Amino acid sequence: MGIHAIQIDNKARKANKNMAKTDDKKKHKNCSLCADKIESIDYKDASKLRRYLTEAGKIIPRRITGNCAKHQRMIAKAIKQAREAAIISYVFD
Ligand SMILES: [Zn+2]
Repeated sequence: MGIHAIQIDNKARKANKNMAKTDDKKKHKNCSLCADKIESIDYKDASKLRRYLTEAGKIIPRRITGNCAKHQRMIAKAIKQAREAAIISYVFD
C-alpha cells in the first residue's frame, strides 16, 4: 500500500513537470536587442531609447518589453546618460 501511494505521487509529479515545460515554451526569449545581436546601446540614439520609454518618459519594465536583464540594464544606463546629457527629457509633455 505504501509503494502504491509513492507511485501515484511520482505520476503526479511527472504531470506537473510536463505542465512546467509548456509554461517555459510560452516565455521564450523575446528580447529585441538579443534578436538584433546588439552588444552596446548608444545613449545619443534618442529614437532607439524612446522605444523603451513610456509617453511619460518612464522606462518601460522588462516584463512588458520582453527584454532580457542584460539589455534592460543597458537600456536603463543609456537612458540615464541621455537624460544627463539632455538628449531626452526626464518628463515628456
Ligand atoms: Zn537581450
